[in-house]
Amino acid sequence: MAPTSKPTSEKQREPSCGSPGEGFCFSSPLGYINVTACADGLHSIGLEGNISDENFSPNENVDVQLMGKDELKNEPKVIRDCLQWFQLYFKNPKLVSDITRPDICCFKESNLGFRPRVWKTLADTVGPGEVITYGALAARLDNPGAVRAVGSAMRYNPNGIIVPCHRVVRSNGMGLYHGGQRQVVKLWLLKHEGIDKFS
Ligand SMILES: [Zn+2]
Repeated sequence: MAPTSKPTSEKQREPSCGSPGEGFCFSSPLGYINVTACADGLHSIGLEGNISDENFSPNENVDVQLMGKDELKNEPKVIRDCLQWFQLYFKNPKLVSDITRPDICCFKESNLGFRPRVWKTLADTVGPGEVITYGALAARLDNPGAVRAVGSAMRYNPNGIIVPCHRVVRSNGMGLYHGGQRQVVKLWLLKHEGIDKFS
């Protein structure tokens, strides 16, 4: 019989619930934010287009709106939660601490794998305006030796901004964002939260 399972690296990027999810788009100061979600929560959050350090042009006057939808009340709860979360986040990031975080699908499994555990610990314990080093996050997971694995979990974080991988920094500097291609985005997010020093 031919093997049917995919290589692990590919498998980890699939939503564990098996649903492909539905796509939504929000306007934001950073550009369009594309989101996919199933009824259980978010699968992915991504900035639209090939944003890079060279072409990033944020516009703080852009309001967060759900694009192409007239009746917000007909949209899934997670998308309404997301809209509120992004609206508050871009207005004043500290405000999101007071509201419920939009559900994240892969956090709902009963037995979380390593990466979802890293993402959840980060999202649960490192709030707006705080940073944590890769090493300190590994220690917080009771796994102080897992610094590289934590770094890799950050690189594969499918739900950026809400799972705040931009708040994970090196002990001697800012650390990479989006494989090092979106350093200005990380800088923008951290500055927006009031941080301009990283060590
Ligand atoms: Zn799902």
